[in-house]
Amino acid sequence: MRYVIIGTGVAGFASIEAIRSVDKSGEIIMLGDDPHGYYSRPGLAYYLTGELHDKALFPKKREDFAPLNFRYQNTRVTSINRAEKTLLLDGKTLLSYDKLLIATGAFAAPLTVPGANLKGVVKLDHLEDARQILALAKRGKTAVVVGGGITALELTEGLLSRGVNVHYLLRGDRYWSNVLDEQESHIVEARLQMEGVTLHFHSELTEVIGKNGKVSSVRLLNGQTIKCDILAYAIGIKPRVELAREADLALDRGILVNEFLQTNDPDIYSAGDVAQAYDPASGRSVLDSLWTPAREQGYTAGLNMAGKRKSYIKSPPFNVTRLAGLTTTIIGTVGHGRDEDIVGIARGDSETWRQLPDAIAVQGGFDMNHVRVLVGEKTLIGAVVMGDQTLSTPLQKIIAEKMDITAIHGKLLSRDVKIADVIVDYWSNHLKTA
Ligand SMILES: Cc1cc2nc3c(=O)[nH]c(=O)nc-3n(C[C@H](O)[C@H](O)[C@H](O)COP(=O)(O)OP(=O)(O)OC[C@H]3O[C@@H](n4cnc5c(N)ncnc54)[C@H](O)[C@@H]3O)c2cc1C
Repeated sequence: MRYVIIGTGVAGFASIEAIRSVDKSGEIIMLGDDPHGYYSRPGLAYYLTGELHDKALFPKKREDFAPLNFRYQNTRVTSINRAEKTLLLDGKTLLSYDKLLIATGAFAAPLTVPGANLKGVVKLDHLEDARQILALAKRGKTAVVVGGGITALELTEGLLSRGVNVHYLLRGDRYWSNVLDEQESHIVEARLQMEGVTLHFHSELTEVIGKNGKVSSVRLLNGQTIKCDILAYAIGIKPRVELAREADLALDRGILVNEFLQTNDPDIYSAGDVAQAYDPASGRSVLDSLWTPAREQGYTAGLNMAGKRKSYIKSPPFNVTRLAGLTTTIIGTVGHGRDEDIVGIARGDSETWRQLPDAIAVQGGFDMNHVRVLVGEKTLIGAVVMGDQTLSTPLQKIIAEKMDITAIHGKLLSRDVKIADVIVDYWSNHLKTA
């Protein structure tokens, strides 16, 4: 049996661990076009700010992979021939497969304004992008950042920490409007302004202007121009579905897979950022760009490829991240609608976060420490915790395990209680009785 994995990200690696846990002798080949192989993509933000050395992005050493007994090839897969069950590598070599996993991730949605190909226009997809940003920041004085979600802020903070002045353009009147509520957006915006970022609301980029092939300024829809040396964009991501599209596999926003992570071709599976995974619990097929679901999907795909039938059951997506220096946990379903700054979803983001059904939002705290919980009929369905993270783990468990909160439902909705105290009490009672 030959298993072939396309993609050296966390989904690809998890699939190999799973295959080896079932099949000790089958041949496994991993193919990837990133010259650096497997590393932490979320860690790139901390590499940009200088908090992480590039070595720290590589959690595993070569010898850690030895027990998995697989062959790695740094190559680009250019097409899949499903009838022959072969792959074309770098447009010239053929490789056959018995079971195939497509774990090709996602790429930054491209900027389509005139001048987008000038030197100095950057995104943050992989390690080489981060290195390019650092090189530009050495000489650059001013940057303009466009986009939304977590990556736009990671770019902003990375550039700021390298001494670059940053202008941040937002199309609407607040930051990340379909995940955060108004108060949360304003907390982030105030912190950015305190750090020295110039925010431009209701601002749309229409053109990047260059001099000698390099960015020199940007033009906005209202006619204003801003001088800059760097234009960084994070306007959303696109699953890398080209191989699947050419092979005529079923697609929607990503590669459609069933609960076993299997595509409409029984010998081809897909997992991670590229897959739009069906969740039998909710009956929905959704996209995530989150490390933990990519890992869980990869692992489940691997088990199924090796013949061990296992369904992928999605847990409420969560991310513990930093927004303008403030540790923030986002869990479950917290918002709805479209955010004008993002096409689809961004990195570190989930479509599930913005599928809010009828629920009542209650919130407490202010400024640095803020918590918002979304109260359903008998359960909590989502939460945002900013600053003090004491409630982060309890809320993750309460939401993921759909714990019955009937006993505190009334209290949570009453005006004169601190919701943090109600949740802490509920959680300590649960621990006592568990
Ligand atoms: C800057 C940044 C910040 C992030 N922040 C967070 C966060 O805060 N929290 C969080 O949970 N997640 C975050 N993420 C998202 C998280 O890293 C991804 O969800 C996860 O890495 C997805 O893993 P994957 O294996 O699906 O894909 P990837 O890690 O993208 O790997 C896909 C691999 O496939 C390779 N490939 C693609 N096409 C081909 C081809 N044709 N031939 C050969 N190889 C190919 C690519 O080179 C790549 O190496 C962040 C990501 C980035 C980039």
